[in-house]
Amino acid sequence: MPVSLASIRYLLIDMDGVLYRGQTGLPGGPELIAFCEEHGIQYLLVTNNSTLTPAQFVARLGSMGIHVPESAVMTSGGATAAYLSTLAPAGTRVNVVGEAALIDALEQRGFVIAGRNAEYVVCGWDKGITFEKLKTACLAIRDGATFIGTNGDKTYPLEKDIIPGAGSLLAALVAATDVEPLVVGKPEPIIFDQALNALGASRHETAILGDRLDTDILGGKRAGITTIMVLTGISSAEEAAAFEAPPDLTFDDLPALVEAWRRALGS
Ligand SMILES: [Mg+2]
Repeated sequence: MPVSLASIRYLLIDMDGVLYRGQTGLPGGPELIAFCEEHGIQYLLVTNNSTLTPAQFVARLGSMGIHVPESAVMTSGGATAAYLSTLAPAGTRVNVVGEAALIDALEQRGFVIAGRNAEYVVCGWDKGITFEKLKTACLAIRDGATFIGTNGDKTYPLEKDIIPGAGSLLAALVAATDVEPLVVGKPEPIIFDQALNALGASRHETAILGDRLDTDILGGKRAGITTIMVLTGISSAEEAAAFEAPPDLTFDDLPALVEAWRRALGS
């Protein structure tokens, strides 16, 4: 059965490459949010980036004319903290390789930031990484702490360069411990489960909108939800057609998606 936009009631929206690129808003972002609100489509902005808090993402989006509440943003750090809450009670000791936003997300759930004596090690993207941080995390994992990664992205694309991402730090800890982490972010199912929970959404009425085949689209397929790709980010139409799990729907950009969605709803 062909996928219909008309049946989608919940939308997970990737940000980078969809709503903006770098510091620049992409066309149609404010219109997409307005469209969702007008039609009662509940949305959640879902990102693998754990280095900003929801409040910081709200401020960045606001500067691009996209106005959403903090509750509409789920970072891989927030999803990791929410997931950890299902495994361990508040007060549990957690060692963190990551930035202030990740520590903030864990502390908001009542976790206590600790060193080698931690029961869990959470590793996210950390642009202030040091040998000491890697050493402490490695020793905690060797002592038996459960190893969790916010996301597995090995690299992070800048305008002109490709730099190490959270997955590169995970790889260092894997090399040092021979322990594989439990990874939360896209394309893994944990962040999708957390997002569906947060929205109270049913899978058959939910779609992910993203620009990247190996995270958004692959993750959406694994999670059993509809996948919508826009061609304003990393992946191209040719790559999409050749991908192991091609997206259900592909649009050049957000204005084309919103126009098609309006037609599907007869509005
Ligand atoms: Mg993206």
